[in-house]
Amino acid sequence: MRIAIDGPAGAGKSSVAREVARRLELKCLDTGAMYRAITLKALKEGIDITNSKLLGELARNCDMETEYDNKEGTLIYLDGENVTEKIRSPRVNKNVSIVAKSPELRRELVFLQRKLAEKSGGIVMEGRDIGTNVLINADYKFFLSASLEERAKRRWLEMKAKGLDVNYEDLLKEIAMRDRIDQEREESPLKIAPEAQIIDTTPYTLEEVIEKVLDAIRNDKIKEHGEEKIKIYHKESR
Ligand code: C5P
Repeated sequence: MRIAIDGPAGAGKSSVAREVARRLELKCLDTGAMYRAITLKALKEGIDITNSKLLGELARNCDMETEYDNKEGTLIYLDGENVTEKIRSPRVNKNVSIVAKSPELRRELVFLQRKLAEKSGGIVMEGRDIGTNVLINADYKFFLSASLEERAKRRWLEMKAKGLDVNYEDLLKEIAMRDRIDQEREESPLKIAPEAQIIDTTPYTLEEVIEKVLDAIRNDKIKEHGEEKIKIYHKESR
């Protein structure tokens, strides 16, 4: 089974994807972590992040490994170093959408993402272009959204919980800027796949959104296989 979850920053994609994967015993991949890792490397090496070709070369020549941990989510290693924490820095947040505009870079990462899906045996993949490009034939496609204010509030609370002192207004501006760049770029921009189920997560708790995703899959399976088989499937998936 392949499940694509797309949406803007702070819509809850990572938490939902991780938990849906855990309950359905699938692998999970946060593709944003890959764009973040390349951003980290480009900034470290002082590469011009508007130079699309250079970014493509950087991705081609680096050693990027991802690992799935059903509690932590996607762990990411760059040239042997675990950079899972480092890729969440304010500097990476600010620059990642500019880096992700590069068609050459996207080609490299999409190739890797498809390869990971192939060998996963079943995956929940989340990002911006999964349902529209990376896994165009995904069995299920979801698009999670939430108001800009709610998304900024969630990120602010997340960062506060980690002991990071960030200004809510700055965070809101940064997310709005990332949304705009992600939606307006030429190469596979953030948009809703025609067959995606849209969930506005603004009024819901994380658990409610997870249940909505699982219900959509269960209801579809019931249509396909009948009620009895699904009860077994449901029980086994917990
Ligand atoms: O999901 P996250 O917010 O960590 O993603 C960071 C950035 O990576 C996004 O703002 C977007 O610019 C880029 N991205 C992308 N395509 C994906 C996943 C992420 O362009 N599939």
